[in-house]
Amino acid sequence: MNAERSSEKVRMVHGMLQEHNGMNPIVIDRDILRDADTDSRVKVHPCNWNGCDMHVGVEHKQVAKHLQQHHGINASATSKAAQEIACLWKGCLDSHTKPGNLARHILTHIEVRHICLTCQSSFSRDDAFRRHTTEKIGCQYAEVAISYGAEVQAIDTLCMDSGWSISQNVMCIPL
Ligand SMILES: [Zn+2]
Ligand SMILES: [Zn+2]
Ligand SMILES: [Zn+2]
Repeated sequence: MNAERSSEKVRMVHGMLQEHNGMNPIVIDRDILRDADTDSRVKVHPCNWNGCDMHVGVEHKQVAKHLQQHHGINASATSKAAQEIACLWKGCLDSHTKPGNLARHILTHIEVRHICLTCQSSFSRDDAFRRHTTEKIGCQYAEVAISYGAEVQAIDTLCMDSGWSISQNVMCIPL
């Protein structure tokens, strides 16, 4: 499915949910249900990319896949030759990055924080946390806690019946 046709379909699904179910429908890729945690939940955040009507998963690979599938961005382009592109996330001020680094950048908009439970330092990126544990004396065995921004919601995947949940106002695409 190309990006344009997919956004048309999303807008339709989103409008339908809104009409029948009221405010703040959540439209997600069916794929991310597979990434549910041990409590059968997946965390999602509104995708604020250029008027997108979907929610994205909060994990790096989920954001990268969403950018690729729905916004036509080559989320693996990190080479020297790759042109930097503007971040179209609502409220992002003049940020340019290589397409391959965009998903990591967007995690900062989702306000994912990795907090070192030994010294309370916090990092938006998991690799920065891992580097911290190798560099800071005393933190090499530190555990991490992950916190998310206020707009992150957890969806109970057990309540999803053939791709949608009336009670949670969630629908998956493809249906
Ligand atoms: Zn999007
Ligand atoms: Zn941005
Ligand atoms: Zn630490």
